[in-house]
Amino acid sequence: VQEQLNLLNRISDELNTDLDPGRMLQRVLDLTVEHLSASTGSILLLNQQNRVTDFILQQKVPRDQADRIVGTVLTEGFAGWVLNSGHGDIIADTRHDQRWVVYDNQPYDVRSVLGVPLRRRQRIIGILTLVHAEPHKFNPTALPLLNAIADQAAIALENAQLFRQTEQERQKLEAIIHSTQDAVLVTSPARTVLLLNLAAQEMMELNDQPWEDQPLQILTTNPELLNLFAPDAPTTGEVPLPDGRTMWAKITEIPGIGRVAVFRDISNFKALDKMKRDFVTAFTHDLRTPLATVKGYVELVRMDGPVTDRQEEDLVGVTKAANLMKSLIEDLLQLSRLEQLEELVRIPLDLEGILETSLTQIKPSAEAKGVKLAVEYRRGGLMVEGNAVLLVRAVGNLLDNALKYTPVGGQIRVTLDRSDGQALVAVIDNGPGIRAKDLPRIFEKFFRARPELDEIPGSGLGLAIVKTIVEQHGGRVWVESEPSVGSTFTLALPLLAEV
Ligand code: ADP
Repeated sequence: VQEQLNLLNRISDELNTDLDPGRMLQRVLDLTVEHLSASTGSILLLNQQNRVTDFILQQKVPRDQADRIVGTVLTEGFAGWVLNSGHGDIIADTRHDQRWVVYDNQPYDVRSVLGVPLRRRQRIIGILTLVHAEPHKFNPTALPLLNAIADQAAIALENAQLFRQTEQERQKLEAIIHSTQDAVLVTSPARTVLLLNLAAQEMMELNDQPWEDQPLQILTTNPELLNLFAPDAPTTGEVPLPDGRTMWAKITEIPGIGRVAVFRDISNFKALDKMKRDFVTAFTHDLRTPLATVKGYVELVRMDGPVTDRQEEDLVGVTKAANLMKSLIEDLLQLSRLEQLEELVRIPLDLEGILETSLTQIKPSAEAKGVKLAVEYRRGGLMVEGNAVLLVRAVGNLLDNALKYTPVGGQIRVTLDRSDGQALVAVIDNGPGIRAKDLPRIFEKFFRARPELDEIPGSGLGLAIVKTIVEQHGGRVWVESEPSVGSTFTLALPLLAEV
């Protein structure tokens, strides 16, 4: 008994050390043949349809002969009997047992046989057979032992197969991830690299440098790339590369794994965008001169006068149209200049000063229209770092809009406050408001809500300029609005750290 237990232990060790099903079964077979003093043995593996998918013979037998043996034993022979009856048995002497078929060219003599099924989840997945050249060689006590071995082998076999399946799936996924053109980078919560596909290795110019489990900051010094993985970083961003390409990154947080970043090359779009901007700049620039000429001629006509009242009305119309065109051109130029601005020169500014300047500029038109202006500084001494001209322009555009869209007798309020290290400038009007469906697009270039309804002229560029300026200052702008109640546009700008 002790010896049997030892054998079981050895086999179970053996089963757990090798995850290759073929090699593992071979070892099981070798050990059982040796310990039960058989001459040789075999294991057949069966699929769902009880067809032999694989077999392991302990003794080397030519392949075609092996195929024949396997075919015969399963249909007419002892293995077939084990499969049909569902349990193992011993043949004491093959000469007196129908279940043993003898065929031509039998490679070795068989007189004693011991066979058991390998069973997993009610199904027989294989048959383990031991044979001996002499009769009465297997003791009936060997049967339960062989059953126990078969049970263990079946479990190990299933594990090995599941492992192989998982491994195949893993390899498939890996192949897909590695062959995609998009760069994929996965980091652990501790910001060490878990995965880099080929495109990502190339993007980071790693050559053959090892990257697995390395901290990200050791592998790259690209500040934009590192920023994406900072705590609380935004989930998308552009990453310029030293070779001139620009990548667009999208980060996804996966609980329990870390962060997955996918990078797409957007260099072509960037180039196109630059071409478009260059074109707009050049074109609008060239439009200024003829426009000035139009206005000059209007003056000339007046000087050549006298003009009739009808003609004067027409001239006013021409001037109005020319002025509108001029402001459109100015907006376009301003926007393209802003977008091409690489780095903003910043100085510390008091926001109250900025608001005062913007309000002074709007005051005369507000008074003329009969719209009340109110201002409320809830906190004093709010300093930001920025460009005064641009910030005055941003607030000015919001005031212009508020005035433009608020009907006679309305009211505009400007408030200044702080929250979470940010200065908040709000421009609040009680005008017509903006429909919910227009809100998401309101800051887009050329977008005008309901232009057909109002006669109010505009280019649809004012808010795009505001947004660009605010973002250049590291801030945000948003709007809350309710139709026929009014609109509140808020600018949030990072406060200068107090010293
Ligand atoms: P423009 O005013 O030249 O049309 P903007 O970019 O400044 O362009 O504004 C885009 C659109 O947003 C406007 O056409 C208008 O419909 C809407 N809008 C902007 N400000 C207000 C406001 N204070 N009240 C109502 N609608 C507004």
